[in-house]
Amino acid sequence: MAHYKDERTLVIIKPDAIQRTLIGEIIGRYERIGLKLVTMKMFVPTAEMIEQHYTLDPQWRRVTGEKTIKGYMDKGLKPPSTDPLEITRILLEKLKEYMTAGPVIAMIWQGAHAVKIVRKLTGGTEPLTSDVGTIRGDYVLDSYQMSDSDGRAIRNLVHASGSVKEAEDEIKHWFTKKEIIDHKLISEQITYDIEFGC
Ligand code: ADP
Ligand code: MG
Repeated sequence: MAHYKDERTLVIIKPDAIQRTLIGEIIGRYERIGLKLVTMKMFVPTAEMIEQHYTLDPQWRRVTGEKTIKGYMDKGLKPPSTDPLEITRILLEKLKEYMTAGPVIAMIWQGAHAVKIVRKLTGGTEPLTSDVGTIRGDYVLDSYQMSDSDGRAIRNLVHASGSVKEAEDEIKHWFTKKEIIDHKLISEQITYDIEFGC
């Protein structure tokens, strides 16, 4: 079995974060907790790659639609549709526009519980309700209501894989084996070595 420290996750710095010159802030948050940046690249994605990315998980359409409906109901508001699949059918088109609007940076981060740690630092999907102290809670304001009434995707700066399985699939989707750099960091000895040999 792989050690906890070998867990990897995928992060994409979205076009809005790059336009707002937040690359350093975002990378710094993942770096300072002790995760390792395995590899990264900057490029403008195609709409096809974005559609495939969001539909790698066959449940994504239903789950994201249901999460949107709950986001409205929790605030006592009426969702744009009661059909989760109708919500994500429209959303997928908006996501393609958003995510291909300019360059993004795709990164692989590694460390113990990398998937959950990165989601915790990133914050919940809707910036209006993302926790303070998270990237989405601290650096951006947006809501389901505003993005839906303006007919666009929520601008929330970062994508982060939602589960270990999603991370594995997304890493394969965005990176070739050759692009993944297996390197060691000195700091990993302090974080993980059993003997604390200073
Ligand atoms: P997360 O990125 O937190 O994993 P999802 O996978 O559910 O969130 O959704 C993917 C992305 O689609 C979100 O990060 C956000 O940019 C956008 N999004 C999700 N739901 C909505 C919605 N109801 N209206 C507008 N944009 C949305
Ligand atoms: Mg997701």
